[in-house]
Amino acid sequence: MPHNPDHPADRPYLVRVAVPKPLPRLFDYVAEGLGVPAPGARVRVPFGRQSITGICVAVDPADPHPDPKPVEDLLDHHNVLGDELLALAHWLADYYHHPLGEVLGTLLPAAARRGAPLTLRREPIWRLTEARPDLRRAPRQQALAEFLGRHGGRARPQELAEAGFTREVISGLAAKGALVRDFAARDSAGRDAAPPGAASEHRVELPTLNPEQQTAFDRLQQGTGRFTPTLLEGVTGSGKTEVYLRLIDTVRRAGRQVLVLVPEIALTPQTLRRFERRFGAAATFHSNMTDAQRLDVWLRCRAGEVGILIGTRSAVLTPFADLGLIVVDEEHDGSFKQQDGLRYSARDVAVKRAQGLGIPLLLGSATPSLETLVNASAGRYGHLQLTGRAGGARMPEFHLLDIRGHTLRDGISDRLRRIMRVHLEAGGQALVFLNRRGFAPSYLCPSCGWQAVCRHCEMRMTLHRKPEALICHHCGQRQAPPRSCPGCGRGELLAVGLGTQRTEAGLEAMFPDVPLYRIDRDSVRSQRRLEAQLAAIRTGKPAILVGTQMLAKGHHFPNVTLVAVINADSGFLSADFRAPERTAQLIIQVAGRAGRAERPGEVWIQTHQPENVMLAALIEEGYPGFVERELEHRRAAGLPPFRPMALIRAEGRESEPPQAFLREVKETLLSAAGAAGNVEVLGPAAAPIPRVADRLRFQLMVLADARGPLHRTLRAITDSPPRAAGVRWSVDVDPYDTF
Ligand code: ADP
Ligand code: ZN
Ligand code: ZN
Repeated sequence: MPHNPDHPADRPYLVRVAVPKPLPRLFDYVAEGLGVPAPGARVRVPFGRQSITGICVAVDPADPHPDPKPVEDLLDHHNVLGDELLALAHWLADYYHHPLGEVLGTLLPAAARRGAPLTLRREPIWRLTEARPDLRRAPRQQALAEFLGRHGGRARPQELAEAGFTREVISGLAAKGALVRDFAARDSAGRDAAPPGAASEHRVELPTLNPEQQTAFDRLQQGTGRFTPTLLEGVTGSGKTEVYLRLIDTVRRAGRQVLVLVPEIALTPQTLRRFERRFGAAATFHSNMTDAQRLDVWLRCRAGEVGILIGTRSAVLTPFADLGLIVVDEEHDGSFKQQDGLRYSARDVAVKRAQGLGIPLLLGSATPSLETLVNASAGRYGHLQLTGRAGGARMPEFHLLDIRGHTLRDGISDRLRRIMRVHLEAGGQALVFLNRRGFAPSYLCPSCGWQAVCRHCEMRMTLHRKPEALICHHCGQRQAPPRSCPGCGRGELLAVGLGTQRTEAGLEAMFPDVPLYRIDRDSVRSQRRLEAQLAAIRTGKPAILVGTQMLAKGHHFPNVTLVAVINADSGFLSADFRAPERTAQLIIQVAGRAGRAERPGEVWIQTHQPENVMLAALIEEGYPGFVERELEHRRAAGLPPFRPMALIRAEGRESEPPQAFLREVKETLLSAAGAAGNVEVLGPAAAPIPRVADRLRFQLMVLADARGPLHRTLRAITDSPPRAAGVRWSVDVDPYDTF
C-alpha cells in the first residue's frame, strides 16, 4: 500500500472525516497501520450502528476528539476528487450552507459512495491502422478490413468472432500492419469514445458564419485560456449552437476538454446528433444512466479520456483532467437549479469552476435570466448578441388575441380556429401551447360546490382521461373520480378548466382529418415514443402539435408556421416573484418554434388581459422590453438580482413546530445581522403551496444588501441550528422559486 512519505505511519493517527449525513460537523476516527490518506480519500467508518463511506478532510487535526472510534478501512490513499473538485466542495458547503459530508456525497457517483474501486475498466479492441496493404489475394482479410471500416475502424474481439472472423484472419491482417491491438474505454452508449484529436477525422461541411456569428466567434477566441465569462444572447435559431461548435473545436484542437450543460438531454436528441456529426462521439451524463455508466463516464472525464461531455445539471460536478471550456446552453432554464438536498445552481457552479480554472465560460440563451443580464450590463460578463436568424429564416410576427367576451371551445376561440385552418391549408403545421397537462384542473359539483381536493395537499386535483383518474400534481396522489357528488349526492360533477388532453380532444373534433400529436409528460413516457413523434412531425406534413413546455425546449420544427398560446395570463398572475420572468421566457421560447425555415411564422397569444403591461411590453418590444420593465419592478421591490435572497423552509405534521422553529431562526438571524440593518427577514409565512403530502409548509425570506452580510447571517443558523423536533427544514440560497 502506498504511504504518505511525510507522515509517520507506524503510530496511530487521527483522520477527520466528512460523513454523508445532514449534520453540520466533522467526525474524528483513529487509524493505525493502514497507510495515511490524503484529504479527499474515501474512508470507511462506523457511524451509529452503520458502516458508512466518508471522505478524509484532514489528518491529525489540531483539536482532536478525545475518544475517537477506529477507522474500518481506507478505500483510497489519494484524493479521488482531485484538488479542484475538493476545493469546490468546500466552496459549495460554504455558499449553499450545506453539510460538507453531504456535499462530498453529492460529488461522488453513487457507485463510488458504495465503495466501488475507482479505476477504469478498459477493453481490448482491434483497431485499423492507416496502412492499406494489397488484400486482393486474401478475401477474408479484405472482408475484415471492410467490416472494421464500417464500424468506425475498431471492434471488440468478441464482435469480430460473432461476425465470423477467425483468429487466423485477424492475425493475418495484423501481420500486414493493417490492424493493431488497442484499448478503449467505453462511453455510456457502449460505443468507443473518440480518442483525443479525433475531432478532425469527423470534419463536415461547415456553414460560413454570418457577420454577427463571426464577430462573436472572434471575440470568444480571444478569450480562450483565461476566465472570460460571456453571455451569448441570440434569438432562437440565430446560430448560437453553431458558435458553440466552432469554439469547442478550437479548444479541442488545443487538446483540452469541454463541458456542455444542457437543460434536458432526453428532449434534445437533435443537438446530441449535431455534436456527434461534428466531433465523433461525445459522452453524455444524465439521470437516466445506470450507476455503472455514470461511474465510467466520471472516471474517463477525470482521466482526460472524454473530449466533450454533454450533460444535465449534475454534470457540472464532474472532475476533469484538463477542462478548457464550459458552455451552458439555455442558461436561464430552471432545471439547472437543484430543488432538494444540495440546492446548487449548475450555472452558478459553472461560473465558479471556470473562474477557479481560469477558463472561458459561455452562457447562451434567447431569453437570458435577469441575473445574467445584470451581470453582463455591469461589465462582469462579456455580452455578445445575435439579432437575426441564421440561414435566412425570418422572425415570427406576434399578435395578441383578445378573448374577452368570446366563447371558447376547449380553449380555442373561433378566430384562432380560422387562423389555424389557414395555416394548415397552406401546408404548414400549427403548434398549440398550454402549460397544463391532464384534461381539466378541477372537478366539481355545481349544485353544492364540492371540489376534488387532494387529501394530503389541500390542492385541487387534476382530472386525467385515458386512463381516467384524479391526480394531484403536487404529491402524485391518484384516485378514481367519483361518479356522483360526494358532497350532496345529487349533483352531476363537472370538469372545469383546461388541460392539454382537453384541448387535444377539442382539436380532434375541429380538425378530424389533420394528424395531431400531443407532447407532454403523460404522453411522452419513453424516449422512443418521443423520438417517433418528433420524426413524424419533421416529415413536415400538415399537423397539429399540442403540448406543454416540453414543446418549447430546443426542438427544431422547420414546418411550424403558427404558434398559438392558449392562456398567457395565468403565469403573469402567480404569487412567485420569478413567475413573470419564467412566463415571458416560455412564451418567447415557444414562439421561437415558428418559422424556423423558409416559411415565415406567426404567433397568436390568447388573453383576457390585453392591457397587461408586461404582456404588452413582451409583444411590442420583445424580450428586452419585458426585461426592462421587470428589472424596474425588481429593483423597486428590492428583489434579486438587486439583492441576494435565501429562503429558509420548514415543514411539519403540525403547524406550530415549524412556525416556532422559524421564529427562533428569525431572531437568531436578526441578532447575527447586527445593528447594521442591511439584512431583512420576512416571515414566517405559509408557503405558496401551504401543504404537500400531509406536511404543513412555512418559510422565511432573507434578503440582504450584499452577499457578505447574507452569508455571515445564514452561518449563525447553519453552524448551530436551533433544535427542531418534528420539523424538516432547509436553506435555499438563490432560490429559483418560492413554492
Ligand atoms: P440556435 O442555437 O441559436 O437556436 P442554431 O445554431 O441551431 O441556432 O442555428 C439554427 C439553424 O441555422 C440550424 O439549422 C443551423 O444549422 C443553421 N445555421 C446556423 N448558422 C448558420 C450559418 N452561418 N449559415 C447557414 N445556416 C446556419
Ligand atoms: Zn354536490
Ligand atoms: Zn397531493
